[in-house]
Amino acid sequence: MNPPLERSIVVLGGGPAGAAVALGLRRLGHAVTVIGVPRAFDAIEGVSDRVVAGLQGVGIHAALAAIEAPSPRRATWAGQTTALNSERLVDRAAFDRLLWQELQDHGIECLAARVLRWQPQDDAHVLQVQRTGDERSLTLRAHFVVEARGRLAPHVSAGVARGPETVALLWRGQGAPGGDAASAVESLCDGWAWCARLSGGGVALQLTVDPSALTLPPRAQLGAFIRERLASVGAALPFLDIPADEVHALARTSGAVLAPTVCGNHWLRVGDAAMAADPLSGNGIFQSLSSALQAPMVIHTLLNHPADVVHAKRFHQDRVHGLFQRFARIGRDFYVQEQRWADEPFWAARRAWPDSLPAHGTAGAAAPRIEARPVVDRDRIRLAEVVVTDEQLLGVWHVDGVAVAPLWRAVQAAPGQEVEALTPLMGGAHARAQAMLRWMRAQGWL
Ligand code: FAD
Repeated sequence: MNPPLERSIVVLGGGPAGAAVALGLRRLGHAVTVIGVPRAFDAIEGVSDRVVAGLQGVGIHAALAAIEAPSPRRATWAGQTTALNSERLVDRAAFDRLLWQELQDHGIECLAARVLRWQPQDDAHVLQVQRTGDERSLTLRAHFVVEARGRLAPHVSAGVARGPETVALLWRGQGAPGGDAASAVESLCDGWAWCARLSGGGVALQLTVDPSALTLPPRAQLGAFIRERLASVGAALPFLDIPADEVHALARTSGAVLAPTVCGNHWLRVGDAAMAADPLSGNGIFQSLSSALQAPMVIHTLLNHPADVVHAKRFHQDRVHGLFQRFARIGRDFYVQEQRWADEPFWAARRAWPDSLPAHGTAGAAAPRIEARPVVDRDRIRLAEVVVTDEQLLGVWHVDGVAVAPLWRAVQAAPGQEVEALTPLMGGAHARAQAMLRWMRAQGWL
C-alpha cells in the first residue's frame, strides 16, 4: 500500500466558496490543495452585479466569462407583474469548469477526485479520495481541512437548523441559440416558479414546492410533470416554446440549512456547507462568498497565532450564524409580500420562519455599546473594541480607516460638545470630525 500523500491545507470542493478560500489562502502564502469533482448536474442560476463584484473581490476573473450580461427579469408576485428588474444568468457547469481552470492558473494544486471519507484525527485529518477515472482510492493526510462541498457536505453532528422542507424540481432543455436571454419568476398557490433562457438557447424551468405536499412522479416522468405544471403559469409560457426533449430533469433539495458548528482548531466550513439559503432571494452564491471572504484570515490565525485561536473561531461562528439569520429573514420578507395565499401551508410556513424579528435590526432600538469583539486586522483575527448596535450585531470597528470605539466614547462623554471632542481624535481636522458626527447620526447612534 502506498504511503498517504501529505498536504498542509486541503479544500474539499471547488465551487465559489472553496475557490474563494483557496485563492485567499494562496495570497497569504499558504500551500493549498483543492479536491473536487464537477457538479452532478447542469444548472442555470441568476446573480446580481454585486455577485460579480464579490467574485472579482476574491480574485475570480476568468470564470466571469460564463456569466451573461444583465437580461430582463419579469416578476409576478403578490398579484403584480413588473419587468423593471434584471439579473445575470450563469451556466453553472461552464462557470465551475472555468473556475477549476482558474485555480490551477493561480498555481493552486487541484486534484480531480471524489472525497469518500474525511476522518479528523488529533494532529491531522485523514482523507480517502477516489481520483476521477481511477477505481482505486487514495489516502491523504492534511493538517487543515476546509469543508466546501456545498449542500452535499455531510453534517457530522446533531443540531443542524433547517428552514421549511423545500424541493426544487428542475427541467433543463436546449433551444436554438441566438435568442435574447431572459428570466421570469411567479408565485403560485403551492410554491413558486423560475424560468430562464441563456443567449445560447439553454432553458431552465424550476418549480419550488414543499415535498410533503405533493407526490412526486417517478424520475422518468419528472420532466413531463414539471412542464405540465408550468403550462398554466403565465411567466413560464415564453420558456415552453422549445422541444420537450430534456437534457435532464431532477429534484434538488433547496431548503435553508445551517451547520451548528462551523469552525474547529483544524477545520472550517464555508459556503453552502456552512449555511445554505432558500434560493428564492437569488442570494446563494453571494451568501456562499460572504462566508468564505474572511475565512482565509481565520485559518491563518488558527495556524499562526495560538493566542487568538478562540477569537478566530468565534469570529467565523458568529459571522456565519449572523449571515444565516439575516438572509433567512430577508427570504421570509419576500414570502410575506405575497398575501393571496397566506394561509396555504407552503406560504404560512415560510412567512413564520425563522422568527418575526426585522431582517436588518431596528436602528436606535438599544443604545450603541462598546465591546471587545474579534475583528479582521489585515491577515489575521484579533480582539479589538468595536461599537455594537442592534443593526450591527457583529460590531463596527473602523470607518474610513478610523477606529470608531474611541470616537464614540469621546462623543458620549461630551454632550453638546461632540465636534470639539472628536476633532483632536481626527488629527485636528474639524471638517472630518463633523463628517464623523453626521455619520453617527445617520446610523441612528445619536
Ligand atoms: P457548490 O457550488 O455546491 O460547490 C461545491 C462543490 O463541491 C461542487 O463542485 C461539487 O461537485 C463538489 N463536491 C461535492 N461533493 C464532493 C465530493 N464528495 N468530493 C469532491 N467534490 C465534491 N444561487 C444564486 O446565487 N442564484 C440562483 O439563482 C440560485 N439558484 C439555486 C437554485 C437551487 C434549486 C438551489 C438548490 C440553489 C441555488 N443557488 C442559487 C445557490 C447556489 O447554487 C449555491 O449557493 C452556491 O453554488 C454555493 O456555493 P458553494 O461553493 O458553497 O457550493
